[in-house]
Amino acid sequence: MTAPRILVVEDNPKNMKLVRDVLEYAGYEVIEATSGEDGVRLAELERPQLILMDLQLPGMDGTEALRRIRVGRDGRDGQDTPVVAVTALAMDEDRARALASGFDGYVEKPINVRRFREQVEGFLAGRSRQ
Ligand code: MN
Repeated sequence: MTAPRILVVEDNPKNMKLVRDVLEYAGYEVIEATSGEDGVRLAELERPQLILMDLQLPGMDGTEALRRIRVGRDGRDGQDTPVVAVTALAMDEDRARALASGFDGYVEKPINVRRFREQVEGFLAGRSRQ
């Protein structure tokens, strides 16, 4: 089996590097997007198994990018890529808002490296909203 492909949408280079390093060390293939527009495009083009979406992005934000990814998927073959919000907003209401927006889960920044690996494994296995 080939390594699961994970699309990371993140505009902060330091955050991107940390997430990429952790995921690649864990054996995943990482696809990078630094804007919501690129995230939408690469979600369609690359068909990743999981999408990690920063909520706060310049231009199109993470919630709008999620909406467009979902719309774009409707015409396809029932594929159901989990899209997980990754954000520094740590309040309970922000978490609730992300889930209400249709995200399949929520990860807080700064990430906890060990916990992050477990979370990613869980999302790939279909255990959402952890
Ligand atoms: Mn950001």
